[in-house]
Amino acid sequence: MSRGPRRTSRSRAREEALAAAAAVRVPERCDVAVVGGGAAGLAAAVAAAESGASVAVLERAATCGRTILATGNGRCNFMNASLCGPAPAWERYNDPAFVAAVCGPGFGDDVLAFFEDCGLAWAEEEGGRLYPLSRQASSVREVLLARAARAGVVLAPAREVACIERDGGGWRVAYEGASSGSVVARSAVLAAGGGEGVTRSLGLACAPYEPVLCSLACAAPQDVSLAGLDGRRAHVVARLLRGDVEVAREVGEVLFRSYGLSGIVVFDLSRHALPGDVVALDLTCGLDRDRARALVAAGGCAGVLDPVIAGALGSDALERALDLRFVVTGPAEPERAQVTRGGLLTERFDPATLEARELPGLFACGEALDVDGACGGFNLAWAWKSGLVAGRAAAGRRAADDGARRA
Ligand SMILES: Cc1cc2nc3c(=O)[nH]c(=O)nc-3n(C[C@H](O)[C@H](O)[C@H](O)COP(=O)(O)OP(=O)(O)OC[C@H]3O[C@@H](n4cnc5c(N)ncnc54)[C@H](O)[C@@H]3O)c2cc1C
Repeated sequence: MSRGPRRTSRSRAREEALAAAAAVRVPERCDVAVVGGGAAGLAAAVAAAESGASVAVLERAATCGRTILATGNGRCNFMNASLCGPAPAWERYNDPAFVAAVCGPGFGDDVLAFFEDCGLAWAEEEGGRLYPLSRQASSVREVLLARAARAGVVLAPAREVACIERDGGGWRVAYEGASSGSVVARSAVLAAGGGEGVTRSLGLACAPYEPVLCSLACAAPQDVSLAGLDGRRAHVVARLLRGDVEVAREVGEVLFRSYGLSGIVVFDLSRHALPGDVVALDLTCGLDRDRARALVAAGGCAGVLDPVIAGALGSDALERALDLRFVVTGPAEPERAQVTRGGLLTERFDPATLEARELPGLFACGEALDVDGACGGFNLAWAWKSGLVAGRAAAGRRAADDGARRA
């Protein structure tokens, strides 16, 4: 009963959003058409419009920027401080060379300057994670939408792009939804996030899509009941092992689930994990082993380990806790994954502009490209910066065309 009024107000808000979307007039022509009004698409639209281009954003959902609201548990971890300064943490991405070539040494500083100009205040938390000062993802979305509106961007939500095709020297972007039609633009920016969707009509080469930054389904060590550990958290050193090789190592919190392992540390390992790999946890988080043994000898396991976890590990709990091994069987809850690995092959795009080498006037940014990063604000940082690069370049193409015509 108590959820009824909330549902009603949600459906009313959606109806209002759809009515507002239906009232938007999508131009038949513009300089830059942006496909997808998520993080990267909004950054691209702002950058293009502020460079003097007329811009329309076509977004499938009832409102633009909706994906931003779910990030960081509703708080939006929008950047990571380790991307600031002269040596950004490129290694936190699957394709460090490409990300470095696109984003340049000013990566993090550029992103923060962009948000400073949007009027956003932020705060740093553990691991360099940056959040809006309000700790509300809606703050990030609102400042972006306001800046897009100030720049004259036409935001057209409730329009799903079904097809993108060449039209003379530009691109025809066909959409349906609150209204159906097409917009012809000199440049088109693909910012539709992960998944094949609209890129299929372009025949662009893609790396296969897979969910990453998700929990892992695992087989627990013998005699350890995952059900008994379900919901417990521990601060650990976690190593991902493939045979004798350590593929990745993370330090932080793990969350035990009845199906396996979750938590930020496991999300990060999931970017590298394959079925059959082993996740080895040190539940003492690197405490000197002799000291750990001495402490347990003095006071029992409770002084070193969570007593509930120690109980679930049974006799010899400390020795097991030092190297507790789980065999990965695959991703768990892939529908809740934060990022999709795969996407448009980066070598087909010029890193200076993010323009497709074989399809002039077509640009891509954000998760549409085969770039994924670690937890901690790295994925949104890429979305913002790649959006800014693609948006500016897409607008620059218009300026170049105009110059050529005048000459
Ligand atoms: C639950 C969750 C939490 C996350 N938390 C964080 C975090 O705290 N920090 C972080 O760095 N990253 C986080 N991420 C990852 C981050 O949200 C993404 O990397 C980022 O949003 C990618 O930006 P994008 O613009 O490329 O794609 P998206 O933000 O997914 O935007 C794509 C947009 O395109 C639209 N679209 C798709 N197809 C079409 C079409 N055919 N026509 C029109 N529109 C279309 C979609 O509706 C969507 O609005 C999180 C992800 C999830 C799922």
